[in-house]
Amino acid sequence: STPAAITSGLATASRRGVLIKGGAALESLNAIRTLAFDKTGTLTEGRPQVTAWVPLIEESESSLLAKAAAVESGSSHPLAKAIVALAAERGLALAPATAQKALAGSGVEAVVAGHKLLISAPGRIEAGVLSADCVRQITSLEDKGNTVVVLLQDGVPACLIALRDKLREDALQAVAELKALNIQTVMLTGDNPRAAAAIASELGIAFRAGLLPADKVAAIGELNRTQPVAMVGDGINDAPAMKAATVGIAMGSGSDVALETADAALTHNRLGGLALMLRLSRATHANIR
Ligand code: ADP
Ligand code: MG
Repeated sequence: STPAAITSGLATASRRGVLIKGGAALESLNAIRTLAFDKTGTLTEGRPQVTAWVPLIEESESSLLAKAAAVESGSSHPLAKAIVALAAERGLALAPATAQKALAGSGVEAVVAGHKLLISAPGRIEAGVLSADCVRQITSLEDKGNTVVVLLQDGVPACLIALRDKLREDALQAVAELKALNIQTVMLTGDNPRAAAAIASELGIAFRAGLLPADKVAAIGELNRTQPVAMVGDGINDAPAMKAATVGIAMGSGSDVALETADAALTHNRLGGLALMLRLSRATHANIR
């Protein structure tokens, strides 16, 4: 294929929401045998909704929600946006939060109204802090596909917040198209294994759950040693894994950093673009040889 043919292929792709950053990226895509996906914001819409609120102390729900939203107000994580949106919907005024700190892949902390608050994945909380009954309630919510986070106030569990996200409408078809192209698929997620299993079984793909951002990098490194792997993510916590992959593919709705550093992007957030991308790389490669 001539450089002109490559250019025209890339232009056709870009009109369909598939951005491939040059001939080298196109050539690398041809070698890909495995596609790894982030879950939240990639396979799912990244717009979770609060589905359950379980109080664990005497404080009112609106007081705790206002505090939780204050803690999350500085975070760009989809779970944070859902909690902040719920507080806004209820017309709650947020107290100022200080010392806000994101704990990548596990939660966020801040000081609000003189209290030290932590919102955390249950699996990242020290053993013994959550009662056996509390753990049972978490497990039952997670089995239904929810992500559960715990709000701790001065180290004391104050409430459970369950959230659920929807699969992207084209996720199932996109996975089927990739299988038809003989591409292996795996979901790498920081979410808990039960919620991850619920999503993965809907899609029929393999998964690894409970991964911190560094664990995602290690998993990509491991896969990449056997066969070239591409990582698709929104860059919220998974930009390092996208960089570690042979090809990093960013969702268009993701972070600016992800879009800049990725080798390719799905600018319309359509997962169907993945099969298009791979078919184009194969066609171009066949033409070159
Ligand atoms: P994913 O792999 O699904 O994109 P992340 O690595 O972004 O997940 O986050 C993993 C887990 O860490 C979440 O399921 C959640 O329990 C927790 N978490 C991370 N950031 C936040 C936050 N801002 N608020 C609440 N929980 C968070
Ligand atoms: Mg994510």
